[in-house]
Amino acid sequence: MNTPTSEAIVASLSAIVGSQTCLGTEAEIKPFVTDYRGLYVGQAAAVVLPSSTEQVSQVMAWCHENGVAVVPQGGNTSLMGGAVPGADGAAIVLNLRRMNQVLAVDPINDTMTLQAGVTLNAARTAAEDAARLFPLRIGSEGSCQIGGNIATNAGGTAVLRYGNMRDLVLGVEAVLPDGRIYSGLRGLRKDNTGYDLKQLFVGSEGTLGIVTAAVLKLMPLPRTSSVALAAVPDPAAAVALLGEAKKAAGQMVTAFELISGPALELVLEYLGNVRPPLEGRHDWMVLIELTSGGSSESLDQSLMQALESGMESGLVLDAALAQSVADAQSFWRIREEISDAQTRTGGSIKCDVSVPLSCIAGFIEEASAAVRALEPQARMIVYGHMGDGNVHFNPLRPKDRTAKEFLGACYDKVSHAVDSLAHAAGGSISAEHGIGVAKRDDLTQYKSAVELELMWQVKKALDPKNLLNPGKVLPAPGAASTPGNE
Ligand SMILES: Cc1cc2nc3c(=O)[nH]c(=O)nc-3n(C[C@H](O)[C@H](O)[C@H](O)COP(=O)(O)OP(=O)(O)OC[C@H]3O[C@@H](n4cnc5c(N)ncnc54)[C@H](O)[C@@H]3O)c2cc1C
Repeated sequence: MNTPTSEAIVASLSAIVGSQTCLGTEAEIKPFVTDYRGLYVGQAAAVVLPSSTEQVSQVMAWCHENGVAVVPQGGNTSLMGGAVPGADGAAIVLNLRRMNQVLAVDPINDTMTLQAGVTLNAARTAAEDAARLFPLRIGSEGSCQIGGNIATNAGGTAVLRYGNMRDLVLGVEAVLPDGRIYSGLRGLRKDNTGYDLKQLFVGSEGTLGIVTAAVLKLMPLPRTSSVALAAVPDPAAAVALLGEAKKAAGQMVTAFELISGPALELVLEYLGNVRPPLEGRHDWMVLIELTSGGSSESLDQSLMQALESGMESGLVLDAALAQSVADAQSFWRIREEISDAQTRTGGSIKCDVSVPLSCIAGFIEEASAAVRALEPQARMIVYGHMGDGNVHFNPLRPKDRTAKEFLGACYDKVSHAVDSLAHAAGGSISAEHGIGVAKRDDLTQYKSAVELELMWQVKKALDPKNLLNPGKVLPAPGAASTPGNE
């Protein structure tokens, strides 16, 4: 079959979504084909911005019939190059941002139904307006969309208490690669009627279907929170302190984030004019947040109890308890800006790994030693959702080397060393950011042949022509798996 020209694609898709929302010029297309960090720059035959599930279905049916590949895109905040097309310009980008309606909030069923293009921020606000919490919390929440959060199974800083996106989704509506609509918009907490098909789309990174709407779980809105930043001697002490916090506050422990000294230094340099909450320099810190529906005094007491017991046993070197909402926000700002501080600096090797919590301290020690052996001057930007066993282990270029020089010299070696240590500790090479193109080929080393075969079988069942986000997540069929992984 001859694939249609760009002009023919634009003309046909304009007839479906309208000419104003089918973009075809280079200037119009450019922002949609460059990823958040500017590392992946592709090309597209067109960018379509549909406004309804029906339009998405018609676009997909046309593309399926004409052999045109489609890259689904939400807020384009993927850190793995997952939401931008390849360089050949053959695919179109289908961006969901016009499908941004909150369709219903049901405070009795504790659910919210929304179109996929609603930003995470807007979803959280809609829940709060009904005195409920939608608990997903990630640094990109102003731009990322619910459809993207589902497609990446997003995690973030409140997974410890509420789970990741997979745990928060009750229903999904998705358009399949041939244009058929899977209507699973049910708000049921119990539904054992066969395979749980909606979960196929969670974490599929736009390779199986286009998520067009979802039903999400809502939680009681906490009335109070208590936040502290504590310096600890090392990651092992941080893990032990998490145990103390759980002992003192049980499931009120909502976030437990690790921050390395170099990560704090980088973010303070990036933000300028911000006073660090703790005196002096520390190699390791943790940001702890408790939340509850009870009184703020008892919550503060629980946190103080954990910190005091930590101080007595040498797990805590120093600590600052936020005295106000503004204090808490300033502690959190430091944590949340680490990602952007690295993007601004350039030259960071992003390893988003998870290991069992019991192995995390050993893993950090071994990975740090391995990176130092390869790149003694690399800045160790190590931080993340320690409570979930998830570390962003991101060695950063030394100040006297350019990003290009540093990444060119050691990107593959460093990321392989970190990933293989995580794998050896029973962990994952992608805890929450997904695979995209960035880690696609590495999968052959860390997934068994059976796992890869099953993934391809699912892909082929839903997308036999391989037109939906081709080249993402799945390594080329037949690529060898590492012996020992069988
Ligand atoms: C500053 C910053 C902080 C971040 N912090 C976190 C964090 O703490 N935890 C975390 O998990 N992630 C984090 N991320 C990564 C990113 O924000 C998440 O992966 C997010 O869920 C992506 O949503 P998006 O709408 O931007 O999706 P995009 O980037 O547009 O797309 C991501 C993937 O999903 C697919 N996709 C998008 N929309 C749809 C749809 N409607 N249907 C089907 N497929 C779709 C795309 O094809 C692509 O493969 C962070 C990113 C940044 C820039």
